[in-house]
Amino acid sequence: MDFNDTPEEAAFRQEIRDFIDKELPERFKDAGGFGFGGGGGGDMRSRFEEMKEWRKKLSDKGWIAAAWPKEYGGAGLGTMEQFIMNEEFAENRTPPVGGMGVSMIGPTLIIHGDDEQKDEHLSRILSGEVQWCQGFSEPESGSDLASLQTKAVRDGDDFVINGQKIWTSGAQYAHWMFMMARTDPDAPKHKGISYFMLDMKSPGVTVRPLVNMAGNSMFNEVFFDNVRVPAKNLVGEENRGWYIGTTTLDFERSSIGSAVGQRLQVENLIKFAKEHKDDHKSTLGDNETLQFELADRLLETHVAKMLSYRVVTMQARGLVPNYEASMCKLFSSEMSQRIARTSMKVAGLYGQLLNDDTDWAPAKGRYGASYIQTVASTIAGGTSEIQRGIIATRGLGLPKN
Ligand SMILES: Cc1cc2nc3c(=O)[nH]c(=O)nc-3n(C[C@H](O)[C@H](O)[C@H](O)COP(=O)(O)OP(=O)(O)OC[C@H]3O[C@@H](n4cnc5c(N)ncnc54)[C@H](O)[C@@H]3O)c2cc1C
Repeated sequence: MDFNDTPEEAAFRQEIRDFIDKELPERFKDAGGFGFGGGGGGDMRSRFEEMKEWRKKLSDKGWIAAAWPKEYGGAGLGTMEQFIMNEEFAENRTPPVGGMGVSMIGPTLIIHGDDEQKDEHLSRILSGEVQWCQGFSEPESGSDLASLQTKAVRDGDDFVINGQKIWTSGAQYAHWMFMMARTDPDAPKHKGISYFMLDMKSPGVTVRPLVNMAGNSMFNEVFFDNVRVPAKNLVGEENRGWYIGTTTLDFERSSIGSAVGQRLQVENLIKFAKEHKDDHKSTLGDNETLQFELADRLLETHVAKMLSYRVVTMQARGLVPNYEASMCKLFSSEMSQRIARTSMKVAGLYGQLLNDDTDWAPAKGRYGASYIQTVASTIAGGTSEIQRGIIATRGLGLPKN
């Protein structure tokens, strides 16, 4: 097995390293291994403002949407180049800029949108002037998304939307939502759904933030009361929305960014435990059990990297990862919880001080915040049970229940 870069890949990696070295603002360079902004949720709007300068530099290189074709403002990078870019960005903890506009609605419009829709939206996604949210989940439809009940009824040049979405991340800041609604209640459930773009300022839209147990309101309930959406905002054909919602470009799907980020987190934790071995911030002392646990966590981050390599090498060979991507998601999300639990053991009782700047709080309370926040990681983006089901049936060939 040769894990080395080809000469072209090595040159591209170096180009990215040089770029980050020169262009990444200093204040982003030490996020403590917990990603941009530390462990706390923070305010998405102020993060966005802080990132403007970095976004501009990436945009000048066409690197905001590296996978998009060049004609739409992307860099048209292949799978391996995207992988290298994601790996280097993660190693250097660069703040993420693209969001759902770049990863979800942009690719959908590139493939299924008409010229008018592309003209109106793609450049504004790249410039960051418009933020998007994803209106898929509903109170009774999450894992079984195709059972969604929000209705869209044609009325002249508009569709009239009634119903409710839930867990809509960033809806309180978003200008637009891409969403699915039922347009034919009599059709089989996957065949009566359409895909819309909805202006969040439309009359009849109500956003109600939900406060999670970490005290952040990063997701919301969104209610639609006779909201009129012009028919020109229907993406693709009516009643074909389910298939449009599953569109992806040739995106690298290895989760290498998470694998690298988690390794940095664990390395940072080990450094912290050693530095504070003899004070109130760390329980490490000569606790051998905890030492073994730290060793396990570091080992797991290397396993995560190997799982990522497997997915990306499949994609680079033109294969479509299926249960292999589920393995990455499952392993990485459950590992994030194990890392958070080990962090709390290292921090001991003082770890319960959350997002606290006093000298009493180990790592300014980031470990406690992470312990609470990572609970969501095995739910968001497909629960652990759903991932296990995919691995069992599609991967192991076990019968579907
Ligand atoms: C932090 C966060 C951010 C999110 N952001 C968004 C967003 O921006 N937009 C959006 O649309 N949604 C978002 N979601 C919603 C997310 O997609 C759903 O929570 C997720 O798909 C699970 O759906 P559910 O909550 O309805 O749970 P359910 O599907 O009701 O599941 C409940 C339990 O039953 C289990 N279960 C369900 N079906 C099966 C099965 N077939 N086999 C075995 N077990 C099963 C699940 O694993 C789970 O334990 C977000 C969620 C979180 C936590």
